[in-house]
Amino acid sequence: MISFDNVTKFYADGTVAVDRLSFEAPTSKITILVGPSGCGKTTSLRMINRLIEPSSGAITLNGQSTLDMDVVQLRRKIGYVIQNAGLFPHKTVQDNVAVTARLNGATRRAARTKALDLLARVGLSPEMHQRYPWQLSGGQQQRVGVARALASDPEFMLMDEPFSAVDPVVREQLQDEFLRLQSDIGKTIIMVTHDIDEAMKLGDRVAVFRPGGRLAQIDSPAMLLNHPKDPFVADFIGRDRGYRKLAFSAIQPGLSLFSEPCASLGMTVAEARERAIGQWILVTENNQPLGWFDVTQPKDQILADGINLSSTFAPLTGSLRQLMDAVLSSPCGRGIVVDDRRQLLGSVNVEQAFGTGQPIKAG
Ligand code: ADP
Ligand code: MG
Repeated sequence: MISFDNVTKFYADGTVAVDRLSFEAPTSKITILVGPSGCGKTTSLRMINRLIEPSSGAITLNGQSTLDMDVVQLRRKIGYVIQNAGLFPHKTVQDNVAVTARLNGATRRAARTKALDLLARVGLSPEMHQRYPWQLSGGQQQRVGVARALASDPEFMLMDEPFSAVDPVVREQLQDEFLRLQSDIGKTIIMVTHDIDEAMKLGDRVAVFRPGGRLAQIDSPAMLLNHPKDPFVADFIGRDRGYRKLAFSAIQPGLSLFSEPCASLGMTVAEARERAIGQWILVTENNQPLGWFDVTQPKDQILADGINLSSTFAPLTGSLRQLMDAVLSSPCGRGIVVDDRRQLLGSVNVEQAFGTGQPIKAG
């Protein structure tokens, strides 16, 4: 656990960057610091590894004050990832990761093994390993940055806007992979972002900062959405709040499903047209939905390349948001529901999908 106890930072020019900050970042969880630009997020983060010294107050790691630790020892316990990755430009991808392991006493051979393992974990294929950072895309550099931070087996990870410099599609991908990685490694993480969507998606706990370096509220995403403490927090979270809340509501147990007719690959379009309700028919393979087929197309047979793949399918054990996505992304308004093995269960329309949800994340 990382705790802040009444921590203040003022700069020489009198700027109060962080004002009497107290909160706890629990072990093995992701705590997000979010807020508008200039509200003291980066300063708070950098005080943890003592790149910035607090003016007053205490920061403890598992109960031990950072001021009582040797700075070098302290930083070895903490992986640090920054925007644009901050890689060594003259080192290859592999060496960028291996160097951290070497610094922590690994032999050259062990450091190399470690680097290869970590690069695989963050999804960088072997042909990238001998490249230099400038030969990588922003998203790839960011993956190397994460691998490098993990190379010292740190107990804690500090991440400052790690995904902000990459385009939205890649960002979503990196976020999903990061959540998968974290479910494996269970580090104690504090991440800074100015993006409230990112905060709500990644955070177990989210600390909302207000200008002047003050903490406005720290809670689970569901609590922030349902019980914002004051107008500042409500406004900051505001956009699409109703829609976001659906992500924290389970599909109600009594959901009645329509038995969706389906077709299979290779079937004649004439036969599919017979079965279809209107223009679209669901194509399945081994009872797993693949996508929708437009039976008004002038084609003879259902082939893979004629299938519309743009719809998402909602697991029955998933959230109302996934269910709404399934309905809204379906070309015919019937959202497909599957079980945990992606087997077709049936479909729902928008009226059925909406209902009173049940909380799936305790406040
Ligand atoms: P954030 O990461 O939330 O955007 P920062 O922690 O970087 O905010 O900055 C908080 C405040 O401290 C800002 O007003 C910023 O201008 C100020 N600040 C940051 N570094 C310094 C510095 N070295 N000297 C004076 N003021 C600073
Ligand atoms: Mg910052």
